[in-house]
Amino acid sequence: MSSFVTEPGDQSAGGGISEYAILLFYHYYPEDRSEDSSDGSPQAIVVAEEELVWHQNQAQRLKIGGRIRVSEEGINGVLSGTRENLQNYAKSVEDRGRKAGWLKSCIDWKFGSMRSDLPIEEQTFEELKVEVCKEVVSLLRVQEQQKGRKGRRKGRRKKGKEKGQVGDEKGGISGDGEAGAQEQPQETPVEGQDRLSLAQTIPNKHLNPSEWHSSLLSPDPDTVILDTRNCYESSIGFFKSASSSTPTVLSNTRKFSDLNDWWDGMKAQVSGKNVLMYCTGGVRCEVASKSLISWSRTSGANVKSVGQLKGGICRYLEAYGEDGLYKGKNFVFDPRRFDPQVGKGVVGRCLVCKREWDDYDNGRGTKERGEARCIRCRVLVLCCSECRAERVCFGEGEGDGKAKLFCGEGGGECVDMGNRREGWQVVEDDGDEKLNA
Ligand SMILES: [Zn+2]
Ligand SMILES: [Zn+2]
Repeated sequence: MSSFVTEPGDQSAGGGISEYAILLFYHYYPEDRSEDSSDGSPQAIVVAEEELVWHQNQAQRLKIGGRIRVSEEGINGVLSGTRENLQNYAKSVEDRGRKAGWLKSCIDWKFGSMRSDLPIEEQTFEELKVEVCKEVVSLLRVQEQQKGRKGRRKGRRKKGKEKGQVGDEKGGISGDGEAGAQEQPQETPVEGQDRLSLAQTIPNKHLNPSEWHSSLLSPDPDTVILDTRNCYESSIGFFKSASSSTPTVLSNTRKFSDLNDWWDGMKAQVSGKNVLMYCTGGVRCEVASKSLISWSRTSGANVKSVGQLKGGICRYLEAYGEDGLYKGKNFVFDPRRFDPQVGKGVVGRCLVCKREWDDYDNGRGTKERGEARCIRCRVLVLCCSECRAERVCFGEGEGDGKAKLFCGEGGGECVDMGNRREGWQVVEDDGDEKLNA
């Protein structure tokens, strides 16, 4: 993987907060293009490198900061800058894509507003990082399985390096994507069962915000809502159906690539069900849906159908805001920490004293690096200001005899030890009571 880092200069010179925005996007190249160039050949890398330089030049010209992931299968990014410059960038990307033949339709550009409670310089990226990667979002085993089935090419594995470790909100290259790739053992399906299950068709539908909303309004015991995000994201917000017969399951991964190891444990919850899944902006569900379908076929879980929220929580909140079925805040992977467009209520709790709390930064800007993190595994932890004053977190030295803050029950121990993880969680009707409990 190669990358460039450039400093875009002062993005905050002049202009009010409303002139600035965060831009979130992803786009998969058409299949025929990836057939030619996704085999990791030197030519494919050169193409990606060329694109890398092009994006870097554009962003420098337009004083845009952020992260762009250029891969052989598509692009993915989160950027900050003035709305005008971001729109110019978007137009340039589309023009280039049409000319090059990899853009047949449109890219879904998601413009997010800045928070009004922080100065603009606290909310923009300080640098632009453009990386050439293998995948838009990494969930390695799915990719390997797909390659195997189509008999395209011999699986070339990346060595098992957990890049993002627990700090995925750092490792993720885009607002929604994850950079952590991890080698996974390949399952060996039973011959007969595999033939039988591969013949199954599992419908996979993209639901727009209003279709999603309607689905969550109607009571359906055969449906389960699945949050494919990490634990620190769903700790401050999640979807809840209007009906108690449709549960919400939080995957509670530490990093996205853990999802592959998670399906077996959730077999009882998803077997024979219609699974409605969501993430921040939609890109993770593109990968998670394939992973779920692939697992369902080989495990005999017989998932009935898979629906994904198109445009993710971002698009849903734009349409419904506080009147919708999303509770709490939408965690984002940019310096804002959360999207100012929020759902109803506070769903988070202080890990130590259990009071309502959903501010990782305790009133500060995210760039001040004052967020509460487990002293052992670095994962973000909700800790109210009162409890925070008595605890020492990751990166804060010895803390003058203060108690250490860990990510487990009551803040007393770390739960990320080997195989021992928080694991999935079903949100009960009094869902906010159950989180962090
Ligand atoms: Zn507290
Ligand atoms: Zn921990």
